[in-house]
Amino acid sequence: MHMGTLVSITAVASDKETGHKAIQAGFDEVKRLERMLSTWVDSSELSRVNAEAGRHPVRVSPETFEIIAKSLEIAQLTDGGFNIAVGPAVELWSVTERQHLPSDSELKQLKELVDWTSIRLNPGEQTIFLPRRGMRIDVGGIGKGYAADRAAMEMKRAGAQGGIVALAGDIKAFGALPNAKGFPVGIKHPRDEGRLIAEIDLTDEAISTAGDYERFFERDGIRYHHILDPRTLQPSRTCQSVTVIGREGTVVDGLDTGIFVLGPERGMALVERLPGVEAVIVDNQGRVAISPGLRDRLRRPQ
Ligand code: ADP
Ligand code: MG
Repeated sequence: MHMGTLVSITAVASDKETGHKAIQAGFDEVKRLERMLSTWVDSSELSRVNAEAGRHPVRVSPETFEIIAKSLEIAQLTDGGFNIAVGPAVELWSVTERQHLPSDSELKQLKELVDWTSIRLNPGEQTIFLPRRGMRIDVGGIGKGYAADRAAMEMKRAGAQGGIVALAGDIKAFGALPNAKGFPVGIKHPRDEGRLIAEIDLTDEAISTAGDYERFFERDGIRYHHILDPRTLQPSRTCQSVTVIGREGTVVDGLDTGIFVLGPERGMALVERLPGVEAVIVDNQGRVAISPGLRDRLRRPQ
C-alpha cells in the first residue's frame, strides 16, 4: 500500500535478478514520491506550502514545482474541472473516513478557498504561494499518475526491458510482455463489479480511470463519492467513470478527474482536441462513449 492504494509492479528482464532489482527500484521511487507529495505528512513540501497559506511563498524542489505547474495546466484545459485547490472541501466531506454530509452554508464558506486561479507559481524563485489562509492544495487527483511515470523510468534505468506499474487505476506500461504486443489492461465496469467493459494492450502508454464506484458512501439511497465538482463542491454527477489513455501518467491522471467533472460531451470534445489522448467515458446513464482513436484497439467482451 502506497499513496493510499495498492501498488503492483511487473518487470520484464533478461534475468531474474535484473527483474527483481527493477521492481525494487520502482517501489523505492513510489515511496520517495509518497513522502514528497503526501499532505498527511507534516514535513512534506506540499504540507509546508499549505501551512504557509496566506503568509509566505514556499520554495520547493523542481519536481514538486513541476507537478503543481502541470496541475494548473490541466485545470486550464478542463476549465477548472480539475482543481488541486479543492482540498478543504475534500476534507470536509471526508468520503472515506467521517462521511460527513456538509450543509450548503458549510460548503459556501469554502468557496473562496478553492480558487485555483489565485495560486501563485514563481518559476524564477521556484516558489508556490497560496494567497488565502485556509487554502490547501492536494495532488490526490494527479499524484498517482506522476508516481507511475517516475517508477517506470527508474525500472528502465535499473535494466528492465518492459514493465507495468499500477497504483490502483493509475497505470503506466513500457515495452511488452514476452511474445506479446504490450501489456493487457482491463477497464472495469463502473456498476458491475468483476465485469470489464473493455480490454486494451498498452505499450509506452499510461491509462488512468476516475470513477464514482471505489470511494463513496450512500445515504438515503444517494451515492456521495470523492470527485467533487469545484463549482458546487458536491460530488460530480455527470459520469460514472472516465478512463484516459495517453503517453504521460501525470496528464492522464489529471485529465480523468477533470473530464469526469466536465461531463461526457465537453469531456469528449476536449479529448478529440488533444493529440495522443484517448478516452472511454461512461456517463451517468451507463452509456459508453469511445474516442475515435481507440475504436480499433479496444477488445469488447460480448
Ligand atoms: P483515485 O485514483 O483516488 O480515484 P482520482 O484521480 O479519481 O483518484 O482523483 C480523486 C481524488 O482527487 C480525490 O480523492 C480528491 O483527493 C481529489 N479531487 C476530488 N475532486 C477533485 C477535482 N475536481 N479536481 C482535482 N482533484 C480532485
Ligand atoms: Mg485523476
